Amino acid sequence: MLKKLYSFFWLKCPRCLQGNLFINPSLININTITDMPACCPKCEQDFEIEIGFYQGAAFISYGLSCLFMFGILGVSLIVLRTVPKWVVGLAILLELLFATYILRVARAMWLNVVVRYDAEIAKKVKKNT
Ligand SMILES: [Zn+2]
Repeated sequence: MLKKLYSFFWLKCPRCLQGNLFINPSLININTITDMPACCPKCEQDFEIEIGFYQGAAFISYGLSCLFMFGILGVSLIVLRTVPKWVVGLAILLELLFATYILRVARAMWLNVVVRYDAEIAKKVKKNT
């Protein structure tokens, strides 16, 4: 489970946990935000499972965005006993700031559904680097 979480949040290949899932590590350049290599640069795991594979990640991205937004509003309800306008504004601002990261985490989660961690491959990749 920790390996999956590492793959999700550090955006690493789910098979070897060492190759980057995205070509450009920057979260600011929106033009390249979804660009992924065809396969893992370390273990050669195919990242393009089938045409349109990552459309499923859109549902995960939507769910994560809702969780993020309602999480902030929920904390406000618990701590302040209300949701003032500035908290809503802050939640929207944070949602916009983290939108690209959430999109990438959703893709990593979706890829983790079909690709499992392989300890032997990971050991072999580690030896070669
Ligand atoms: Zn890999």
